[in-house]
Amino acid sequence: ESLIKLINIEKSYRQPNGQVITIMEQINLELRTGEIVALLGPSGSGKSTLMRIITGLVTPTQGQVLYRQEPMRGLNPGAAIVFQNSALYPWLTVLENVELGLKAIGEGPRSRKRKALRMIDIIGLDGFENAYPKELSGGMRQRVGFARALAVEPELLCMDEPFSALDVLTAENLRFELLDLWLEKKIPTQSILIVTHNIEEAVILADRIIVLGSNPGRVRADFPMTLPHYRD
Ligand code: ADP
Ligand code: ADP
Repeated sequence: ESLIKLINIEKSYRQPNGQVITIMEQINLELRTGEIVALLGPSGSGKSTLMRIITGLVTPTQGQVLYRQEPMRGLNPGAAIVFQNSALYPWLTVLENVELGLKAIGEGPRSRKRKALRMIDIIGLDGFENAYPKELSGGMRQRVGFARALAVEPELLCMDEPFSALDVLTAENLRFELLDLWLEKKIPTQSILIVTHNIEEAVILADRIIVLGSNPGRVRADFPMTLPHYRD
């Protein structure tokens, strides 16, 4: 089932000297429900920009974005984002940070708290509800970022280099934990889009890998991982 369709997307920016540069062109892609897609490519190939176009944070210069077959205007109502640096509010507790997205979509205080606590539990933050971000390790803070994005049960979870600020071991653990939760169907989202320049990460997590090339960014490859994830 089609979740997002990008038709002939092009993005250009005007530089301070007035010159216009096209950073991506001829992007035709479809994201379907049920898949984990890795968006891979060198730095500057437009991965972040493409993810922001899909979430509606950036408007393409040309082309069309369809969300569930309908032209998308403004922010994508089904998408939630996990940022590289988790982007938590330092003056709010873990629980309050996780409740933010729910608040934004108009959930009342009681259901908000219930849903946030449930996600906190699933994501392995049980017991840290009342901690502040500065009291947590980088890996734990990133878990809060995941919980906040997932608490709203988005249709599409977008992650922009979500593990790249973590040390290698923490990143690896979190990746596998996330994959396990996904395979156990405990992650309340239809699809995941993960922006990364880490090939290993793409290979471990993705059902499908899309590779962008640079200057200007175009789709160089788009291929399925042909066998399902295995588990011990
Ligand atoms: P990636 O995520 O693959 O590293 P980005 O999407 O961040 O690539 O950037 C792609 C290119 O577009 C880069 O050359 C970057 O400098 C440029 N770019 C991104 N955002 C802007 C912007 N707001 N204004 C001008 N140039 C931009
Ligand atoms: P990322 O870490 O995801 O690759 P960047 O560091 O490329 O992000 O970009 C951070 C922010 O700066 C983004 O909002 C992006 O759109 C903007 N940006 C990136 N490159 C440029 C540029 N050349 N001119 C203006 N803004 C830019």
